[in-house]
Amino acid sequence: MCPVCHNDEETIIHSLASCSFARQCWDLLLPRMQWDVAVDFRQWLVCLFNSVSGEKYAEIVVLCWAIWRGRNDLVWNQKSTSVEGDGACVWANPLPNIVKVSVDAAVFGDRGGFAVGLFARDSDGLLVEARAKF
Ligand SMILES: [Zn+2]
Repeated sequence: MCPVCHNDEETIIHSLASCSFARQCWDLLLPRMQWDVAVDFRQWLVCLFNSVSGEKYAEIVVLCWAIWRGRNDLVWNQKSTSVEGDGACVWANPLPNIVKVSVDAAVFGDRGGFAVGLFARDSDGLLVEARAKF
């Protein structure tokens, strides 16, 4: 059972795409997106990448990471995450002359695949680098 909405089975596609919390996050990032029902996370992500410009790729990967982190904070730390109305995320900039790198990864055992993503931001919060591999 999904620990966030308690309304559906917890799968990767549910947690990152169709859960009510995830949907609120996606609607803030991509407010005009028409969301199709997908049963497979990889298929959903490929369709998503194909429907946005390349400059959105890093934001999509970061949002996937943030949604999963919110889920983990709830499950492991009993800390709830909310969607901010203005789309702002709570993220502290690193100190001057420091680059903060955030990394996350997932293994899809049923397919023998994996995904990894990272982003780096400077002390002004500007994106220095973002990478994702599936
Ligand atoms: Zn849910």
